[in-house]
Amino acid sequence: MTDAVDAAETPTPRRKPKPEITTIAGREVKPSTLMMGHGYDPALSEGSLKAPIFLTSTFAFESAAAGKRHFEGITGQRPGGAEGLVYSRFNGPNQEILEDRLAIWDGAEDALCFSSGMTAICVLMLAFCSAGDVIVHSGPLYAASEGFVAKVLSKFGVTYVDFPAGATREELDAVLAKAGKQAADQGGKVAMIYLESPGNPTNALVDVEAVRDARDAAFGTGDNMVPIAIDNTFLGPLWQRPLDQGADIVVYSLTKYVGGHSDLVAGSIGGAKKWMDPVRALRNTMGGICDPNTAWMLLRSLETVELRMQRAGENAAKVCDFLQNHAQVDGLGYLGMIQDERQQDIYDRHCLGAGSTFSLFLKGGEDACFRFLDSLKIAKLAVSLGGTETLASHPASMTHLSVAHGRRQELGITDSLVRISIGIEDADDLIADFDQALEAV
Ligand code: PLP
Repeated sequence: MTDAVDAAETPTPRRKPKPEITTIAGREVKPSTLMMGHGYDPALSEGSLKAPIFLTSTFAFESAAAGKRHFEGITGQRPGGAEGLVYSRFNGPNQEILEDRLAIWDGAEDALCFSSGMTAICVLMLAFCSAGDVIVHSGPLYAASEGFVAKVLSKFGVTYVDFPAGATREELDAVLAKAGKQAADQGGKVAMIYLESPGNPTNALVDVEAVRDARDAAFGTGDNMVPIAIDNTFLGPLWQRPLDQGADIVVYSLTKYVGGHSDLVAGSIGGAKKWMDPVRALRNTMGGICDPNTAWMLLRSLETVELRMQRAGENAAKVCDFLQNHAQVDGLGYLGMIQDERQQDIYDRHCLGAGSTFSLFLKGGEDACFRFLDSLKIAKLAVSLGGTETLASHPASMTHLSVAHGRRQELGITDSLVRISIGIEDADDLIADFDQALEAV
């Protein structure tokens, strides 16, 4: 991978080809093109067209001086992070290539990969919170994210204030005022505004632009700016780019659309280096970086993420067109068929497509949903989403079972809700499957 250098004089040879090709004949190269080679130079790996999987726990330094310089970067004594490869809890070639390519989709300056979406979320929140601080978050959140804030961070003196997705600017102003007062009373600060949009499983959208304006008005944009993080798992990276609407940090469960084949678990965050650096430092300490094999699989997945998400999106539109008029169907939480004016306005400003995960409300409660799920023949009865295959589940009794019954009702996670993630099968086969399963209801 590396050439011998005089480490005291010369920077370590870069893993990345220089210069990276980002424009061709005056036009900007698109993310789908960059997924094939960005951040990897075959010449550094015996000409191997694809990056090898680097199964090593540690990396040999060119010299003691180079080792010292790398550790100055790792420990933060030298700004800008590690210049070279050090130890596989900190970094590795497969993970760095993955991070470079993930950053491209969101227009982020930097990205970090993790062993799961929840590891990404937990390390992110821990990096920004101290005792006495307040996290402001939208609802609903993925149940484990909500649980981490309410049940784990609370043990360390961090409290929260939540607000419903779709809250207006006026409502957000009131929420942030309340959070500011709560933080002052606790002797802390508002540490982070954490959003999930669309929310799992209802698809409720958060007005990120309004959150940014409310944040700027309440806490300013100076050195003590409160970061806005957003879980973009449901629509990203193709159908929504929240950094463009004023979010600072974008969060993913890569397990879903990015991985896309239901065969791995991973997560990531992306944003400006100033937001990534404290999280990288905590990841260096705690571990939680994605392993090289998973990073390699994600590189393969990223080559087709646009194709897969487009096809799944087209399929979802056809399936929902069929479902919306079915006698057994009480409603759809599909972003291509929004009924609410406020939600439609947010969608028009923030989203580039409706995606392929939606909620299906059946006439009848848990019994009807269970009969439907048990009758599916092509779609699989499993939690998770964003894979090549269609999945269906019952959030109230599965992913969101740990959410108190009252809060589930408040958030619209009723017993009649089935969550469906449409895959890339033939759309007419899926429609036939849903038709026969609805007959069974
Ligand atoms: N965020 C959302 C919206 C999710 O749906 C999930 C998992 O379902 C997660 C985060 C957690 O991701 P992981 O399962 O990769 O830890």
